[in-house]
Amino acid sequence: MNRIFLTRATLPDFDEYVEEIRNIWETHWVTTMGPRHNKLEEMLEGYFQSGKTTLFVNGHNALEAAISSLKKKGEIITTPFSFISTTHAIVRTGNIPVFCDISEKDFNIDVDQLEKHITNKTIAILPVHTFGIPCDVEAIQRVTEKYGISVIYDAAHAFGVRYKGKSIANFGDMSVFSFHASKVFNCGEGGCIVSNNSNADGYLKMYRMFGINNDKSEIVGTNAKMNELSAALGICNLRHISETISRRKEIYDYYMDRLVDVKGVKIEKADVDIDQNYSYFPLRIDSQIMPNKRDAICSNLNDLGIQVLRHFYPIIPDHPCYHVSSAKNNDLPVARKISEEILLLPLYDFLSINEADYVIESLKNALDNRGKI
Ligand SMILES: *Cc1c(COP(=O)(O)O)cnc(C)c1O
Repeated sequence: MNRIFLTRATLPDFDEYVEEIRNIWETHWVTTMGPRHNKLEEMLEGYFQSGKTTLFVNGHNALEAAISSLKKKGEIITTPFSFISTTHAIVRTGNIPVFCDISEKDFNIDVDQLEKHITNKTIAILPVHTFGIPCDVEAIQRVTEKYGISVIYDAAHAFGVRYKGKSIANFGDMSVFSFHASKVFNCGEGGCIVSNNSNADGYLKMYRMFGINNDKSEIVGTNAKMNELSAALGICNLRHISETISRRKEIYDYYMDRLVDVKGVKIEKADVDIDQNYSYFPLRIDSQIMPNKRDAICSNLNDLGIQVLRHFYPIIPDHPCYHVSSAKNNDLPVARKISEEILLLPLYDFLSINEADYVIESLKNALDNRGKI
């Protein structure tokens, strides 16, 4: 069997993409708010059925833009259990990250612990819909309203997710999506902000274009525009997004049925009011039954040609760049525990059932062989 990757980019039919980019060769309009850029922005706005959508070159720059649009600096409460980009965006925009522990149920920020981190310097909360499972958006809204602070969701994992029938982009002041090749919907590289605060839109458009508005630069912006080739890929992929998500669901359900009762692994099921996007298949190697065996299982599977990932490990404050820095709060027992147990299985739209079977059998063997590894 060929090596099985954790994820592989969803690509449209080659001819469909060529058709979409043909006109670029006629007009030579390759970037800077071209027709495909604007069309994709419109298509996304229709897809989200929420606030204003602003397209970006990638999710990380979109996160920095969203934070900058608050036009304040101070402390931002965030999760330690995420991709490093979430905290980098806080620090690179001149703010201080304050880490709040996560909940064991969904690996998202623990809303019961939010209030104890709020000070008179707190300007915002930046939670992540981890692995595409929505945060407790209602409780977060209650806290942010009570203290008059903003909430920006890092929704990089949550494209296509719905909560109580509504697109996840409807919650919070802004949601930031990533269209990186590894995400459920991709443009190669890309991202966007969906903003429910109409005042932010003009700022965000200037920000991605060097701060320029009508020939004059009003703010110290950056270059974060999406080019036409990426936008064309997005347009094609967006046409097929529901097929992509239902293919992912098939694999996800296949894994779930065969692994949920296996001794030594713990898998959380999403609540019924969530429409998932099946972006990842996370499971925990139960450290009570199999203490300190996650890493051995991980390398065992990798040796068998199956790319599994410890995601996220280590937690963000344990990365060298934050270890001795401004990051406050090292008391994060749940995040540390999950980070030591978590494993992501390969999942993408064209993973075959044969490959999924090989992953399942290899994982079961690795668990049974616990004496030997
Ligand atoms: C992918 C990702 C990002 C960064 O998005 P890019 O498009 O790669 O810049 C930020 N946060 C999280 C949680 C992510 O998974």
